[in-house]
Amino acid sequence: MSVDVLVAGGGGFIGGHLVSRLIDRGRTVRSVDVKPLDEWHQVHPDAENVTADLSLLDGAMSASQGVGEVYMLAADMGGMGFIENNKAACMLSVLTSTHMLQAARAQGVERYFYSSSACVYPAGLQEDSRVTALKESDAYPAMPEDGYGWEKLFSERMCRHFEEDFGLVTRVARYHNIYGPHGTWNGGREKAPAAVCRKIAEAAISGQHEIEIWGDGQQTRSFTRIEDCLRGTELVMHGSSGEPVNVGSSELVTINQLVDIVEEIAGITCDRHYRLDAPLGVRGRNSDNALIEELHGWTPSTALADGLEVTYARVHDRVKRSRG
Ligand code: NAD
Repeated sequence: MSVDVLVAGGGGFIGGHLVSRLIDRGRTVRSVDVKPLDEWHQVHPDAENVTADLSLLDGAMSASQGVGEVYMLAADMGGMGFIENNKAACMLSVLTSTHMLQAARAQGVERYFYSSSACVYPAGLQEDSRVTALKESDAYPAMPEDGYGWEKLFSERMCRHFEEDFGLVTRVARYHNIYGPHGTWNGGREKAPAAVCRKIAEAAISGQHEIEIWGDGQQTRSFTRIEDCLRGTELVMHGSSGEPVNVGSSELVTINQLVDIVEEIAGITCDRHYRLDAPLGVRGRNSDNALIEELHGWTPSTALADGLEVTYARVHDRVKRSRG
């Protein structure tokens, strides 16, 4: 099968959606992930689906063979509970980032997209729930999220220097909390929107209307719907600027407000129990989208309440099935 684009990490949440979108656009896609096929979030029969370890140079070389474009989404990651307790594992993704860049260069890839993260921003700018939205230049002087954020920032810099020194066209987006259906919803790697959807679904199904919330619920975040993320990804990949840009919603909510929204969708109200010793991450974080709007014409288009409806429905379905 001849393919023109590689999605690295195609068995993951964002990768699975991206493969589907690229196929819809008539592209021929190779989707590669280290997980066995039966653990992929989505398997698209029209793609060439390969299980391989891209942290190994051999795996990265085979995966990149014959493709013009690479979307590099492979990383060992999860929500705050995972990244705060698995810093070394998160940093080991640097092997994947490095070998994928080396392979792309060696195989003559034309364009290379790297999925960075809002975790590259210094914690010192995120200590207040009434945050000033983070703009791209705030990443320096550098003091990212320990472990995961350092790996992301380092890999961003490698993209910059592979372009400057070797002429590989690289594009970088800093994703802010992407959510949607087909994401991780249990097991410890899930992020806040899926975790809240799962807890409310469990409450709705069991009739025990209680929910555990990590922290005091006053911490703030913005959450970006998968469709907005994919549209931003394509614009950044094919745009003329190699500057890292935020791909994030600017609709700031507290975690309590996130719970309010999901409760309303589910039609229940829960007693809230706050776990103050849980992993919390920064106090507040929002995305400044001025640069991506200027460079790529992208703005987020989905209100959180609308985006969460479909996510809740999907998670509710999964919870119900898991209970037999
Ligand atoms: P995900 O965990 O669902 O997908 C990542 C995939 O990469 C997984 O399926 C995993 O098995 C695969 N992978 C890990 N190591 C690999 C290796 N050595 N070889 C091959 N595959 C490997 O995560 P996601 O939410 O889809 O995120 C995709 C990318 O976007 C990641 O790089 C992540 O850091 C970044 N990102 C995501 C978010 C978010 O909110 N989801 C936010 C910021 C950045």
